[in-house]
Amino acid sequence: MIIVLKNGTREEEIDKLSEMLCKYNVEISPIVGMNTTVLGLVGDTSSLDITSIYLNENVDKILKVQEPYKRANRKMHPENSVIDVNGVKIGGNKIVVMAGPCSVESETQIKDIAKNVKYHGAEILRGGAWKPRTSPYSFQGLRADGLELLNMAKQETNMPVVSEITNPSHIEMFLDSVDMFQVGARNMQNFELLKELGRTNKPVMIKRGFANTYEELIMSAEYVMSGGNNNVVLCERGIRTCENYTRNTLDISAIPVLKKLTHLPVVIDPSHAAGINWMVEPLSMAALAAGADGLIIEVHNDPKNALCDGAQSLTYDSFAETMVKLKLIAAAVGRKW
Ligand code: PEP
Ligand code: MN
Repeated sequence: MIIVLKNGTREEEIDKLSEMLCKYNVEISPIVGMNTTVLGLVGDTSSLDITSIYLNENVDKILKVQEPYKRANRKMHPENSVIDVNGVKIGGNKIVVMAGPCSVESETQIKDIAKNVKYHGAEILRGGAWKPRTSPYSFQGLRADGLELLNMAKQETNMPVVSEITNPSHIEMFLDSVDMFQVGARNMQNFELLKELGRTNKPVMIKRGFANTYEELIMSAEYVMSGGNNNVVLCERGIRTCENYTRNTLDISAIPVLKKLTHLPVVIDPSHAAGINWMVEPLSMAALAAGADGLIIEVHNDPKNALCDGAQSLTYDSFAETMVKLKLIAAAVGRKW
């Protein structure tokens, strides 16, 4: 980090500011020019309170030259990280498809969907047990019973399971039945949840909040990683823009950017981005073409009567057709299927 001081800042003011900055355990190298003095800060600058430094009357500009994230930073780890979700590896050359209903509704529903999506090539079963809904009057999920049903589907199909966790107090319960925690868009910055997940060693898929920057998403990953859990997968699921034809706008740019800035796998959720079933296929194709490591797609046995997100859910037949096209795209971009 570089702090540019205002023209004519006196020596004693520079010393005072340097002394204050030293408390943050950073090394300060002043570069004194004809009119302007620049302070170069080296070390862990993440603890610095930039706003309060700006309040110093002698500070003109603060330039960040280092990203605030370290563990997720590709500079620290040039190779791609491959995250092992109970035997299914995300982030290697092979594309991984996760599929299943928005929410677990019954034993027959989740088992039937699991068998079907597996048959068509999905490797991880998705299914919400706790559903964060905009309205308190909407279906909230089967909660603990939902986890149990996911577990049953897992036993029957041998598919690892990903499910959304909304509360740190549920971690123990999730550890028994889920192979990857999903942190939803609304909880991307639930820092207490992220910190607790960092104390586990299970993979965590963090979905980007619909109004969060790339850096904020990476900092959420950093929360989990700084606790010692490096098994993080990033997920872009659409952001809010001025467009309201679609539920959200899929930010394809997130794929190359997040892969450039971090070494973590990047997956795309086309279902929540589009909100409409017929757009899931083209968005999935675009995602793989742009370098995504995987997809998480909502599939339902009876979308018209789904308790949650039926409009964006694929039927078994449309999922099967989509998977055939995705296989071609994967081959075209040199990825294994
Ligand atoms: C979901 O995956 O079911 C979900 C609620 O996603 P998001 O957090 O991206 O809205
Ligand atoms: Mn959903």
